[in-house]
Amino acid sequence: MNYRSTRDTLSSPITVSSAEAIKKGLAPDGGLYMPDMIPRLSSVDIAALRPLPYADRAAYILSMFLTDYDKDALLADCREAYSEERFPGGAAPTKKIDDVLTSLELWHGPTCAFKDMALQIMPRLLSRALTMTEETLRAHILVATSGDTGKAALEGYRDVPGVDISVFYPVDGVSRMQKMQMTTQEGENVNVCAVRGNFDDAQNGVKAIFSDKSLAEKALEGGRFFSSANSINWGRLAPQIVYYISAYCDLIENGTIADGEQINVCVPTGNFGNIFAAYIARYMGLPIAKLICASNSNCVLTDFIRTGVYDRTREFYKTMSPSMDILISSNLERLLYVIGGSALTSELMTELKECGKYTMPASLHERIRDVFAGYYLNEEETSATVKETFEKNGYLADTHTAVGIGCARKYIAETGDTRPTIVASTASPYKFAADVAAAIGKKIDSDEPSEILASLSEATGTEIPAPLKRTLTLPVRFTRTVDPSDMPEVALGR
Ligand SMILES: *Cc1c(COP(=O)(O)O)cnc(C)c1O
Repeated sequence: MNYRSTRDTLSSPITVSSAEAIKKGLAPDGGLYMPDMIPRLSSVDIAALRPLPYADRAAYILSMFLTDYDKDALLADCREAYSEERFPGGAAPTKKIDDVLTSLELWHGPTCAFKDMALQIMPRLLSRALTMTEETLRAHILVATSGDTGKAALEGYRDVPGVDISVFYPVDGVSRMQKMQMTTQEGENVNVCAVRGNFDDAQNGVKAIFSDKSLAEKALEGGRFFSSANSINWGRLAPQIVYYISAYCDLIENGTIADGEQINVCVPTGNFGNIFAAYIARYMGLPIAKLICASNSNCVLTDFIRTGVYDRTREFYKTMSPSMDILISSNLERLLYVIGGSALTSELMTELKECGKYTMPASLHERIRDVFAGYYLNEEETSATVKETFEKNGYLADTHTAVGIGCARKYIAETGDTRPTIVASTASPYKFAADVAAAIGKKIDSDEPSEILASLSEATGTEIPAPLKRTLTLPVRFTRTVDPSDMPEVALGR
């Protein structure tokens, strides 16, 4: 199977292997890589997957997409990435919330957020890709982060052969806990640096490094090339397809559904990567009826699904589900490509860049509405959902997961569709402990991470996840703070 750009309009498009696509990240024309065909998942596959542990299911499904990778190598990588040590108790467990909703908990990894599901395996796929393409340079991953991605990337890339990683975070733009998680990072090939300014300053700094030819040459002299770890890389998307298929197998195994029965899936969405992976699982043949796209007050996707107009020219809100505070959902481009083809995608992406908005042709909008339903929750509704789900269902959800649960409930109330529904649970409640505690009525008069975590644990009778507990005990390794203009120096230093 080969990969092509979502914006390639040549009569015979340029294609690359999956190893190349993972190494490059973005296609040269600015588009995203997509497989030139989407494999089918049959009932025979489901039967073969059911008895397997998560890592083996992951290797099975990844090998359908990464056809140039050795199957045994993929299995070895998956078994390491999703090991008991990294994901105690299993990688993507399902928990019943009520008669209809089941939570798919994607946060049992080293950083307690769902990005671990992809970022534990993706660096291994990149490391293999470097060998497979006979790359002689080391890859230097540069990441600008508003919190969660940076930590998950650091944990994923730490001590991976052939790769170094530098993470930049805005000095006053992350929570105490997030800062502590990053500055105590272990590993020989990692570097963490604070940047004076906000997230955009850090992000622009990284973008400027990527587009500076003289810096690329200097990196080359040091035997390196710069690369990114963000969610547009196919190597991050493919591993996310796995857990929807895995959850379906688990629901059959535990008697929630019959083999072949249709389910719905609801995903708290930001960059549209996670829900697009669910869409691919559906496209492959997994019996998913509706995909419910859940947003917070930054409801650009809700409006898009309802009206066919994508309009990013609107007010930006900072919410208690910050990982979904996004107005440009990059992976939506992949959906446009699957539904409308590369010529239309290319056209719409140009419109988005130039005017900040675009309109889907009516017939294609119809096709999106057949599959997707869009809902959003404001801040008050998000808090109320955390509270209600905890008090009525005994389930403690983080603020992002609560947006998913609340949107699924709105969908069910509006449509009466009570098919078994999986809600992707994207972070541990302890990752956003202060807001979760406030939502259930527990006031915490401290911004000390250890006290916040202890208070939430006491108030709810739940356990603090081991990785967060451990972070509180680690020494700080990285203390440097620079101006955005000094970021190139940091990037070349390691
Ligand atoms: C990244 C993230 C999301 C959004 O996922 P996308 O793939 O960008 O749509 C939701 N919740 C949490 C906790 C996240 O870290």
